[in-house]
Amino acid sequence: MSIQKVSVIGAGTMGNGIAHVFAQSGYDVTLIDVNPSQLERALANIAKNMDRQVSKGSLSESDKTAALGRIGTSTNIMEGSSSADLVVEAATENIDLKLEIFRQIDMGAPAHCILATNTSSISITRIAASTKRAGKVIGMHFMNPVPVMKLVEVINGYSTEKVVTNTVVELSKKLGKIPCEVNDYPGFIANRILMPMINEAIYSLYEGVAGVEEIDSIMKLGMAHPMGPLQLADFIGLDVCLSIMRVLHDGLGNPKYAPCPLLVNMVTAGNLGAKSMEGFYTYTAGSKDLVVSPQFRK
Ligand code: NAD
Repeated sequence: MSIQKVSVIGAGTMGNGIAHVFAQSGYDVTLIDVNPSQLERALANIAKNMDRQVSKGSLSESDKTAALGRIGTSTNIMEGSSSADLVVEAATENIDLKLEIFRQIDMGAPAHCILATNTSSISITRIAASTKRAGKVIGMHFMNPVPVMKLVEVINGYSTEKVVTNTVVELSKKLGKIPCEVNDYPGFIANRILMPMINEAIYSLYEGVAGVEEIDSIMKLGMAHPMGPLQLADFIGLDVCLSIMRVLHDGLGNPKYAPCPLLVNMVTAGNLGAKSMEGFYTYTAGSKDLVVSPQFRK
């Protein structure tokens, strides 16, 4: 299956990174978002990130110009995917929204087109069932920040055809990524292992086993993690962590996946981590200092 034209749905954090890597690897990209100002922001962000690559010497000025020239935009899913060989959906993590988007792509995209989703936690099989081409639906789970992170978790839905998996695996390699194939069960692999670790770190804080700095330092110094689990939770977003724990808890039915009550309280209070400037740490615009939030100071 030959892929040349790629449509990316959702121009947020992940969508702009995904459009960036496809365009840089020579693919024609249509970036689609319901929000036109989000498209403008995404294009500016891609240009800024490519400038950084140019200044580091990992991208030439002419390759940057060519890559940016390969990205078009649209605010209409059906029009924007009408000539795509592959659609990668990276819209907001909401099941009803994604099911509706996939119904629209299924109507708009050519019959041969592969439909991939970058979902962190929603069942690929469930998304596939909302289309008339379940065999051509697959998970293509990029990591944040997309231009930097090597992994693509390739998730086979219950009905995904082998030729589709092979195409996505080969394509991921052409993007300079390392694909790892997994099957469609709650949390796939990345979040099934990462999120319980983060939840356990929050339980350790909640039960008073140690403070924020100690928990993060132990995992950084002792396990060589580049970031402690509480700082990572703030970076991912505590609301996202909570929703993935709920997917694991509901989908696997095991009490070991119950979200920590402290995580639930923080999300209810609106302390969502870096994006709300308050989580386990307090964030100040323009500062990279890690300052523990007042609630967790000794
Ligand atoms: P985001 O909130 O930054 O961006 C989502 C974008 O989707 C927004 O620009 C929004 O306008 C757009 N959108 C909403 N409804 C739409 C519609 N009907 N049609 C087109 N666009 C629409 O979200 P994000 O962090 O980029 O996450 C996107 C997806 O990637 C989610 O499924 C998330 O679970 C997954 N993911 C996120 C991360 C991460 O670290 N942020 C990592 C891996 C996977």
